Amino acid sequence: MTDANWDQVKADMRAAVGAGNYKSWIEPLSLLTTDQGVAHVGAPNLFVGDYVGKTYGDQIIYHLNRQGLSVQRLAFEVAGATKPALNNAPKSAPSKPANTQADASPDQRFTFNNFVIGKPNELAHAAAKRVAEGGPTTFNPLFLYGGVGLGKTHLMHAIAHELGERRPDLNVLYISADQFIYRFISALRDRKMMDFKQHFRSVDILMVDDIQFLEGKESTQEEFFHTFNALVDQNKQLIISADRAPGEIRDLSERIKSRLQCGLVVDLHPTDYELRLGILHAKQENYVNVYPGVEIATGVLEFLAHRISSNVRVLEGALNRLYALASLVGRTVTVEMAQDCLSDILRASDRKLTIEEIQRKVSEHYDIRLSDMLGPKRTRSLARPRQVAMWLCKQLTTRSLPEIGRKFGKRDHTTIMHGVRKIDELRQSDSQIADDLEMLRRALED
Ligand code: ADP
Ligand code: MG
Repeated sequence: MTDANWDQVKADMRAAVGAGNYKSWIEPLSLLTTDQGVAHVGAPNLFVGDYVGKTYGDQIIYHLNRQGLSVQRLAFEVAGATKPALNNAPKSAPSKPANTQADASPDQRFTFNNFVIGKPNELAHAAAKRVAEGGPTTFNPLFLYGGVGLGKTHLMHAIAHELGERRPDLNVLYISADQFIYRFISALRDRKMMDFKQHFRSVDILMVDDIQFLEGKESTQEEFFHTFNALVDQNKQLIISADRAPGEIRDLSERIKSRLQCGLVVDLHPTDYELRLGILHAKQENYVNVYPGVEIATGVLEFLAHRISSNVRVLEGALNRLYALASLVGRTVTVEMAQDCLSDILRASDRKLTIEEIQRKVSEHYDIRLSDMLGPKRTRSLARPRQVAMWLCKQLTTRSLPEIGRKFGKRDHTTIMHGVRKIDELRQSDSQIADDLEMLRRALED
């Protein structure tokens, strides 16, 4: 591989990720060697390597392959490891429009425009929108929480973007709690605490992402608390995120918890099928430019939205991989191809349905008590739902018959087998049962 090829890869990445991201993440990379399908890439520090790998890995691999290099994996190494890795840690998140002043071109990925709204996130979106208006503070802080990959960082960046446009006079700072900790420690070490305090107290809007990372870091917490109070006292808006509710963050001091709860606490719920499909459709539009000519057969997006329910980042990664593959092999992506090329992701995100969930759902459906479903009574009105539940457990979980038996009030595995057979028969002859099974299955699998 020549330098020119690598330059081309970088140019392609620039087109794909935008100038802001390019500058923060791709430009500092160098290609060291490639060996047996592994491209060794030099990064200024491990943090950058880690982030790039997770965020852009698939795309880089794709473009390397386009340059004629057969690469399946990237390995990041700290290039020119003369400086301690952390010294080069980027001062801000990838696409943060730095202090919303014009020194970095904003990344177009994390905007309100690109945020797909659905039931699970509409409240968080509305609250973020409100803050982004830049009017007088009505709630402080705004605390966003929810599982990984549900859009917290996206929303925070979107706020920064919009504020940058509406209120260029305001000094907006986005920082991850990691970076906050790092800067705090550096300031202590370099005896620059005054600068540190000054810096954070002079912002108009402060966003701190992922504060669960403050867990157990007492002195940083203390400093965070002071910064927090100083800003709130001046009526400056704070936006905080975490992967769980304030009360559930271990080792966070009670003072901080109660202050966090004083504002507006909103959670991002796990995505539902509709939202996932909406996101995939939106992403697909972006891909049209990056991978011209690639076609995705109907049903593929639905398949992905149905099967990958964990986290939007994984969903995006899957779509990205599909596009990269399709454009390599020059074929339309079909559901079979998706199953094949995403088998690892699909396996990992297979929802683990439990026997208990099935039992609960079925007893609700037939309006019987859970205790009766598990108990010894054998009247038809109980026995039939019980068998339905057994059948669903056999179909939808990987549990063995003895295991299922144990969870049905310690019944023998032959009883379970009998129940499953009975329902298999009835399914053919009784359309009511067939409908029930279909409905329950759908409800459980969503
Ligand atoms: P979190 O910070 O909650 O872990 P992110 O904000 O980093 O999650 O989101 C992960 C990825 O999913 C990002 O690429 C983001 O753009 C995307 N994403 C999440 N939710 C949405 C949404 N509602 N609409 C569009 N993209 C989304
Ligand atoms: Mg995040």
